[in-house]
Amino acid sequence: MNDYIKDFPILNQKVNDERLVYLDNAATTQKPRAVVEAVTNYYYHDNANVHRGVHTLAERATEAFENVRTKVAHFINAPSKDEIVYTKGTTEGLNWVAAGYGRNHVKVGDEIVISYMEHHSNLVPWQQLAQQTGAKLKYIALQADGQLDMESVQQQITDKTAIVALTHVSNVLGVVNPIAKIAHITHQHNALMIVDGAQSTPHMKIDVQALGADFFAFSGHKLLAPTGIGILWGKSSLLAEMSPLEFGGEMIDWVQLQKTTFKAAPWKFEGGTQNIAGVVGLGAAIDYLEKIGMDNIQAHEQVLMQAILPELSKIKGLTIYGPQEAQERTGIIAFNLDNLHPHDVATALDMEGIATRAGHHCAQPLMAYLKVPATVRASFYLYNTLADGQRLVEGIKATKEFFK
Ligand code: PLP
Repeated sequence: MNDYIKDFPILNQKVNDERLVYLDNAATTQKPRAVVEAVTNYYYHDNANVHRGVHTLAERATEAFENVRTKVAHFINAPSKDEIVYTKGTTEGLNWVAAGYGRNHVKVGDEIVISYMEHHSNLVPWQQLAQQTGAKLKYIALQADGQLDMESVQQQITDKTAIVALTHVSNVLGVVNPIAKIAHITHQHNALMIVDGAQSTPHMKIDVQALGADFFAFSGHKLLAPTGIGILWGKSSLLAEMSPLEFGGEMIDWVQLQKTTFKAAPWKFEGGTQNIAGVVGLGAAIDYLEKIGMDNIQAHEQVLMQAILPELSKIKGLTIYGPQEAQERTGIIAFNLDNLHPHDVATALDMEGIATRAGHHCAQPLMAYLKVPATVRASFYLYNTLADGQRLVEGIKATKEFFK
């Protein structure tokens, strides 16, 4: 087992007199010293606005800002750094595609296909787009184990489909969707494949080209970077056709009294002063992850799931949502215990120093589909250990006893 935990000062604390076990990584991850120091060093030594000044600090800040674009392109195997757009996070990226691309290209009679497992960030923007354009929003069904139903995929994607927007990994069920296969079907119908990579990018090697994605969005804060920075990747031909949504400083080419021309992508989308320190932190986070290796991170989470899932499934009255086999999921486990309210379970676990999340996980249609109001969710990351998994198992057993 690794000892990455030592790189994360926040994890070295007690909560309710117990060693903190942080299992809310699907919500946000903790930051290693390397990321915090990169941000601090940026503010101590290099802080300036980018693209604007010719002085030394401005040039340093600009270089750091643009270098991370190249780093991100490499991280997700994008063909060009000019296809990497800085955003606030996944939500902003998906909204921009829906509004900046969708409104120009989707028309009455078109269909937009998503699934029942989508996070609201990959649902509401498409619902809005459908309402604004007169397009129809359709849902891919799930199998009983929570995987996407491939028959439903074949049925829902047709020649009327303009956009297929799916999550790569469910933030509740932990399933990994076969994006490359679905992208192939999508492209056969001349539609676009848009991927919500919020829960996959932190946990596995991403190759946007191998996935067959047309757009791919993710958040920095779910992969050790600061909050408020994310990435939208899009094929250059599509970014060229996509309208910017924020107009103002730095995104323009030439402003006249009655008319403005814009810069090329990605800069035309980045209006106003950007989250430069966040970008620097994202660069440091990618360095940290790549040093460990994304394949090793994925393998580590598999080891945890192989050990923990069988232990959890022995607990009477515990319902685990999604596939029961560890190899079919990432390190996310959503569950309910007996008839207890998920918030009571999460509060009891917190009393044991274990941080989980309870609620609908921004996936209300999925909760309705599963016929539950909410679940508890434990989500693991690279710094979690088998001991953390054991603490969760023991914590759930203690909770069961407590409410007996
Ligand atoms: N999509 C999925 C699958 C998520 O899990 C999340 C966050 O929980 C998001 C989108 C939204 O990410 P953000 O809040 O960072 O924009």
